[in-house]
Amino acid sequence: MSVALLELDAILRGSLSPDDYTATTYFEDLDSLDLHSSSSRLGLESVTDVGNQLVTEEEEETNRESSRTLSDDCLDEMSRLGVGFGEYGCAHYKRRCRIRSPCCGEVFDCRHCHNDAMNHNERDPSNRHDLPRHGVKSIICSLCGHEQEVSQVCNKCGVCMGEYFCNKCKFFDDDTSKNQFHCDSCGICRVGGKDKFFHCEKCGCCYSIELQKSHFCVENAMHHNCPVCFDYLFDSVKHITVLPCGHTMHAECLKDMCRHAKFSCPMCSKSVCDMSSVWDRLDQEVAATPMPDIYRNKRVWILCNDCSASSEVYFHIVAQKCLTCGSYNTRQTAAAASNSSSY
Ligand SMILES: [Zn+2]
Ligand SMILES: [Zn+2]
Ligand SMILES: [Zn+2]
Ligand SMILES: [Zn+2]
Ligand SMILES: [Zn+2]
Ligand SMILES: [Zn+2]
Ligand SMILES: [Zn+2]
Ligand SMILES: [Zn+2]
Repeated sequence: MSVALLELDAILRGSLSPDDYTATTYFEDLDSLDLHSSSSRLGLESVTDVGNQLVTEEEEETNRESSRTLSDDCLDEMSRLGVGFGEYGCAHYKRRCRIRSPCCGEVFDCRHCHNDAMNHNERDPSNRHDLPRHGVKSIICSLCGHEQEVSQVCNKCGVCMGEYFCNKCKFFDDDTSKNQFHCDSCGICRVGGKDKFFHCEKCGCCYSIELQKSHFCVENAMHHNCPVCFDYLFDSVKHITVLPCGHTMHAECLKDMCRHAKFSCPMCSKSVCDMSSVWDRLDQEVAATPMPDIYRNKRVWILCNDCSASSEVYFHIVAQKCLTCGSYNTRQTAAAASNSSSY
């Protein structure tokens, strides 16, 4: 065994520190050990080459490892995101976080839960208020309980707190079947699919594209309360109907109204739907109900709620028919409506 080998042996067994042994001698001795055929220089290069190759393979190995780890991470992350999907939330929304109300500091599942508690169930009127949705600053993950700034994914446990997430409205919903979308002009999220709605600037709201060409625009038509239940319509979560006159109300409230045999808009008195079959029936009823002799020549002035025309007609106990448009949605007036009289 050469001196160099003995020394190497000593290093391996720990009796000699590697500092006592220089790289030069080491490589020279490697050469002298005939590990490499020709000059020490070549041998050195060849060792280095082998080294490089090894490193490259190691790198490939590391890459394979890291790509495996990466996809594993992805899977982990994806399954983490999906944890608790559809299992949390309230009567209003499926979501995996609760919100801290910016107004009163209390924690609720959603703004409707807040508003219910603060308005309907609050006895003291001075405490009643709605939650300003855009003002939410802080949310609490339903899975790990961590309170944090508003974002879609919990920064502690990595769970997705809402499959649909709007950072402008601070809105979370795991039920994406509602096809939520954010309308920048409305400034709020709506449901029903972005492709099914357009924003009417004059009415100040998103309307179904079916109404795009056909609806009657009324300035800020949606920025008022439903005339039946007095809820604010613009951000109502209930279905809303646009009447032929352009005025709006809850579809449910309209049905209620019609059930009570009221078929005219509470705001402008125009008919809320095509009434021609009703007018036909009234025609028959009027024809079948002759007026007593004393009324036979009685004439009255009427104003039509549908077409705004005034006419003088024979009085009838059933109803008065507009001579211009044939509607029975008329009211009796004192005389022919003159130009803008004031009271
Ligand atoms: Zn509040
Ligand atoms: Zn709720
Ligand atoms: Zn969490
Ligand atoms: Zn939104
Ligand atoms: Zn809109
Ligand atoms: Zn409009
Ligand atoms: Zn209503
Ligand atoms: Zn109307």
